[in-house]
Amino acid sequence: MRTQIGIIGAGPAGLLLSHLLHLRGIDSVVLESRTREQIESTIRAGVLEQGTMDLLTEAGVGARMKAEGALHHGFELAFEGKRRRIDLTGLTGHSITVYAQHEVIKDLVAARIAAGGALRFGVSETSLHDIETDSPSIRYRHEGEACELQCDFVIGCDGSQGVSRASIPQALRKDFERVYPFGWFGILCEGPPSSEELIYARHERGFALISTRSRNVQRMYFQCDPKDSVDHWSDDRIWAELHARVDSHDGQKLVDGKIFQKNIVGMRSFVSATMQHGRLFLAGDAAHIVPPTGAKGMNLAVADVRVLTRALKAFYVENRTDLLDSYSETALKRIWRAEHFSYWMTSMMHRIEGASPFEQQLQVAELEYVTTSRAAATVMAENYVGVAAV
Ligand SMILES: Cc1cc2nc3c(=O)[nH]c(=O)nc-3n(C[C@H](O)[C@H](O)[C@H](O)COP(=O)(O)OP(=O)(O)OC[C@H]3O[C@@H](n4cnc5c(N)ncnc54)[C@H](O)[C@@H]3O)c2cc1C
Repeated sequence: MRTQIGIIGAGPAGLLLSHLLHLRGIDSVVLESRTREQIESTIRAGVLEQGTMDLLTEAGVGARMKAEGALHHGFELAFEGKRRRIDLTGLTGHSITVYAQHEVIKDLVAARIAAGGALRFGVSETSLHDIETDSPSIRYRHEGEACELQCDFVIGCDGSQGVSRASIPQALRKDFERVYPFGWFGILCEGPPSSEELIYARHERGFALISTRSRNVQRMYFQCDPKDSVDHWSDDRIWAELHARVDSHDGQKLVDGKIFQKNIVGMRSFVSATMQHGRLFLAGDAAHIVPPTGAKGMNLAVADVRVLTRALKAFYVENRTDLLDSYSETALKRIWRAEHFSYWMTSMMHRIEGASPFEQQLQVAELEYVTTSRAAATVMAENYVGVAAV
């Protein structure tokens, strides 16, 4: 089989790229190792920057997001028994939308299928070949058969555990990494929101995030040992921990509900520089990871896709290669800004094991500053809504 663009991975990056290219008259095939049901039900991100919403809308998949997503004009930082609001819209003129990543995936899959797009689910043994030539290919197994997809370009959108990044020789790539000594315990529960806006809480027992998915489904997290097991946490123990970390702030009271999903995620910062080699380009988590504190992962994946779509269009329509040549350099500017912001939020909000009383007071002093100085609050707000990027 032959196509113009071979895309590995049907996450937000791969699906959106495929659809935007289709709208510009460029053919692609998306190869995904999981089933459609699996990708449409994996619970992950939920905070969309305005720029992400704009690109999804431009791609024609924004209707359900606009109807069902919740527009948030601010969020709260809770610390030392008080709650202070960061007024995103007042400080930047922008807002964010809470709309679950798996709903974005459903919208994109539906749009690809309606447009007759080529999506292959359940592929295995994916490997990349001849990426240093003008005719690269991807080999894989699908429904028991060995297949080969020949293309002009291979785009690795296969997330942090994919095969694409390893196809860039290690000698040409520099990996930057930081692993955090804590993780997030996440729950989904039935019930009304405990707060109209997200609450990021710093507490001596550890960080907690009160988020939402809809009027009836709530998403909450608390800092935990990344090696802990969900089996050690009964529903009662989870609620006791969340109440202890959140309720004390200015009369805030969490609303309990029936917990129907629990998971633990590790926290890592990672950047692969470069993000391209020959005819291979990486986008999204395949090239970079941020801890979820800044809500940037999916937004960065979408931002890569924006840069790559423009570059591929310039190649096919105007016969230009300059935007492809500078793809990595262009994308990495935004990525490093988001890496710094995510690291900063994480370091300021989490309980750091072994931190001295002096270091703990520095965290509090920083929170006092970003919630009382308009200039400092604007720095936080610009980064959160995604307009601080270069
Ligand atoms: C708890 C949590 C909360 C988060 N919250 C936010 C948030 O609020 N905002 C935000 O912006 N981001 C958030 N993120 C991050 C966000 O979910 C990711 O950054 C996003 O999924 C990246 O999209 P992607 O398309 O690059 O990769 P993925 O979504 O990882 O997609 C990659 C796809 O490639 C497939 N694949 C892998 N290997 C192969 C192979 N060999 N062959 C074929 N297919 C393959 C995988 O099955 C997968 O479907 C959060 C993440 C977590 C874990």
